[in-house]
Amino acid sequence: MNEEDSEQMGLYLEGIGYTRANSIIEAEVILLNTCSVRKKPEDKAFSLLGEIEPLRLAKPGLIIGVCGCMAQARADEIKRRAPHVDFVLGTGDLGQLPGLVEEAAQSRKFQKRVMLPERKGNIVEDVPQRHLGRAAKLKSFVPIQYGCDKFCTFCIVPTTRGRERSRPTADIVEEVSTLVQGGTREVTLLGQTVNSYGKNLLEGRVPFSALLEKLSEIPNLERIRFMSPYPRDFRADLISTIRDCPKVMESCHLPLQSGDNDMLKEMHRLYTVESYLEIIDTLRAEIPNIGLTTDIIVGFPGETDEQFENTLKVMEQVRFDGAYMFAYSIRPGTPAGDRKDQIPEDVKKQRLATLIDRQNQITCEINETYLGRTLEVLVEGTSPRNPDKLQGFSRESKVVHFSGPVSRIGRLAKVQITGSKQYGLSGELV
Ligand code: SF4
Repeated sequence: MNEEDSEQMGLYLEGIGYTRANSIIEAEVILLNTCSVRKKPEDKAFSLLGEIEPLRLAKPGLIIGVCGCMAQARADEIKRRAPHVDFVLGTGDLGQLPGLVEEAAQSRKFQKRVMLPERKGNIVEDVPQRHLGRAAKLKSFVPIQYGCDKFCTFCIVPTTRGRERSRPTADIVEEVSTLVQGGTREVTLLGQTVNSYGKNLLEGRVPFSALLEKLSEIPNLERIRFMSPYPRDFRADLISTIRDCPKVMESCHLPLQSGDNDMLKEMHRLYTVESYLEIIDTLRAEIPNIGLTTDIIVGFPGETDEQFENTLKVMEQVRFDGAYMFAYSIRPGTPAGDRKDQIPEDVKKQRLATLIDRQNQITCEINETYLGRTLEVLVEGTSPRNPDKLQGFSRESKVVHFSGPVSRIGRLAKVQITGSKQYGLSGELV
């Protein structure tokens, strides 16, 4: 979502005559687009702001803005700790960026814009037609929904990005069509709980599965992905759309967070281990080759050894292709952040290491089962590690390396898998 927001900010600045700088030294405007989901990226942002300060001293006309979730949640602290920042712009209305930059060029008065849409169910209609005039991108992100109504007790997103709002279907179809005309072959639809898309639209409720079907009618669009769905809203119609619609990829990132029902309750996750496993079972029964990944948090306040073991058990049972695993990070202003029963850092670290070790083994074992199979790969370019090889992703979201002519870049290829490692597969062009 942040990557996409950054792109949108670039477009707004191009709209008032700026062009992309080749380096931070050359830049006349520096924007830091920040993330608040964990403490580490916030610490990094403050440290980067410190590193930028000498640039401002050397070039007094330099404009510095902080955008994104940290700007939304910690505007006053940014002003205090980094007085060389000209403005902070939260997540609510990026359209204010050109005005803020122009004001900063005139005056050095600190500006703060952190208003979020107030009402639940607002729709989002003012997203600019991005990507017009940009270099063609083979794969593009398209936000379809902003904010979140779920209020997980560990999460800052409902505070930093506001309540759930969906974009009208017609706007999304128009944007994706424009992207495809510019060279995009794969889109990833983005939303905090992407499968709850479509509430409160003027055209009435549009189920997420209906949006997928509509997008799949766009000629020359080859692939559709989405992230991240929320388990409670994962319904049968979505499963049949993934199964029946060839353009919707057979991969799913379905956050689990914990394999213990009491923990899920305390996290205010609105599903149980059993209902989660039921979705996984149905997905695998209906779409046997589906690639499954997840998010897991260890060391949530009060988590016992037994509750952690329950997460390990679910991980063993599901056997995810991969997982984003994190030690719980206190987010001030969230219910879990205020709890007194925080888990000591060393315990969190130990649990995380155990989980990562086990998941890495499972990933290697699953990747080995791909040996001999032929996968459809969208060829994205040469491998960053070995420029003699081409690289792309399979329908199941496996990264695949293989030898082939660069003329294959941008096209689909069939690759027979001959090697597997934890981080991906290698093979030969069929
Ligand atoms: S579903 Fe929970 S974790 Fe995801 S964005 Fe919403 S509040 Fe945060």
